[in-house]
Amino acid sequence: MRFNPKARLDTSRTSGGGGGGGFGGGGARIPIPGGKASGGIGTVIVLLVFFLITQCTGVGPQVLGDGGGGSSSVGTGTFGGLQAGEGGDTGDFGSCQTGEDANNDENCAFVAMENSMTGYWDSQRDLSGRFQPEQAVVIFSNQVQTGGCGSASSSVGPFYCPADQTIYLDPTFFDSIFEQLGGQDTTFVRAYVLAHEYGHHIQNLLGTMGQVRTQQGPDSDAVRLELQADCYAGMWTAAAEGDGIIVDISDQDITEGISAAKTVGDDHIQSQTTGRVDTSQFTHGSSEQRIAWFKKGMTTPDSIAGCDTFKARDLDNP
Ligand SMILES: [Zn+2]
Repeated sequence: MRFNPKARLDTSRTSGGGGGGGFGGGGARIPIPGGKASGGIGTVIVLLVFFLITQCTGVGPQVLGDGGGGSSSVGTGTFGGLQAGEGGDTGDFGSCQTGEDANNDENCAFVAMENSMTGYWDSQRDLSGRFQPEQAVVIFSNQVQTGGCGSASSSVGPFYCPADQTIYLDPTFFDSIFEQLGGQDTTFVRAYVLAHEYGHHIQNLLGTMGQVRTQQGPDSDAVRLELQADCYAGMWTAAAEGDGIIVDISDQDITEGISAAKTVGDDHIQSQTTGRVDTSQFTHGSSEQRIAWFKKGMTTPDSIAGCDTFKARDLDNP
């Protein structure tokens, strides 16, 4: 995946935030993740506990696939960037000016992806007019305070908070939890994850999120919501190349994205963490379903209706 070196990036909707003083003072940059986070498989099990809490309360943020949803308010993370009042300049991402910066810097790559996704969804007829995000993505480290979903730590994985319509993401997710589950950290895999969370934003705007009644099980509304977010990610993927910001998404990228979808399937996560698969606990869909709906989205980049998982009779065959 490569960005157009000449593309001008808009950093206004991406900000840094997080605990541990990472962004508190003067727009410190996130260090590029290095080394494995400690925790191992135990961390994943902690995630499942988080997940159960979320399901009980029913107010958790929407998480990519690890089931985390730390909506319990613990700690006191602080917003940085725009939220901290840096005079309207994001500061943290101020050096992300062009697509070339995105090719060379993983934080700038998030800005470029957000620009591409915002541009894509803004151009969709179903959404035009109501899609004017002021803040879309907060890149945080360690811990973050959301605007309505409580505080969350990195261990919950990337998530979307419906209350403040913002995606929260700690990049260390990719070299800790995600790799422990057998995933591969590439630029496009990060884009897939972001596009999935973006899909939840679209669902929020369209009112789909409010229609979820059943929270668990292979045919539950929760699973349908998650598979739809994968489908929306596929829609963006099919349209992104050549949009002025992204010049190339290769077949290899797509293969890796599909592999990522497999990694975060409920059955895969369950077998990695507990050694068995229990479909009654499904919240995101199986690996095969996630792949199938991502691919389905790629065939229907111009029509949201192609991703209607709620009408689908057989989630295995979109
Ligand atoms: Zn999700």
